Amino acid sequence: NVKCEDLQLSYGNVVVLDGVTLDIAPGEFFALLGPSGSGKSTLLRVIAGFLQHQKGRLLIDGRELRDEPAWARRVGMVFQNYALWPHLSVRENVAFGLVERRLSRKEIDARVSEVLEQVELGGLAHRSPHQLSGGQQQRVALARTLVTQPQVLLLDEPLSNLDRSLRIQMRQELLKLQRRLGITTIFVTHDQSEAMTSADRIAVLDKGVVQQIGTPIALYDYPATPFVARFVGTMN
Ligand code: ATP
Ligand code: MG
Repeated sequence: NVKCEDLQLSYGNVVVLDGVTLDIAPGEFFALLGPSGSGKSTLLRVIAGFLQHQKGRLLIDGRELRDEPAWARRVGMVFQNYALWPHLSVRENVAFGLVERRLSRKEIDARVSEVLEQVELGGLAHRSPHQLSGGQQQRVALARTLVTQPQVLLLDEPLSNLDRSLRIQMRQELLKLQRRLGITTIFVTHDQSEAMTSADRIAVLDKGVVQQIGTPIALYDYPATPFVARFVGTMN
């Protein structure tokens, strides 16, 4: 339900997205994999509506998005640094996701409680962020996005702040939650093992160009370019 057709974006004469074409299925857990500077975050920001592409088309559920501002799209983005409010409780941080919606106090409370249960933070609702582990903080950030009921979830390297063993555990949890909710998810990472073990399909990006799109096994067995072969074959 997310479609990019020949998306182009440049800063001055520096081309950052050079004709990106993707077709992501409903409910898919889709990874954008590529080295630093390849354009992954830029592509997510275009889909989220924080940046405007200069050429090509972006469609969600068959509807072209062009000038819709970020808040009008049903797309939720979780940033790498979580950006939680230190002076607000877990519950208040999650409710913050709804500040711009016109909802009654009661509706807000009900939605927040439901999402906190989904991410298994019901028992920690009154803590402040500094009383939580990295993984729990990530779930708060995720809950703050999920409470807006997005159709598409965008995650920008959500696991890179955490140490390796916690990351593996978090990745499993994230995948379980994604499967349970069935929400279309686009997940950015420069860690190929992370993408290979969790994604339904992967798009490998280099210098703003999609090198290959396929299942982890297809990329591993039939890399389309030497770059893909090297990148997918390297453990980091
Ligand atoms: P990383 O893995 O390091 O997060 P990335 O794949 O997310 O990298 P982007 O942040 O999308 O990469 O950046 C892609 C390219 O666009 C980089 O070369 C970057 O320097 C350039 N770029 C990003 N933002 C701007 C900007 N505001 N002005 C000019 N160039 C920019
Ligand atoms: Mg980035």
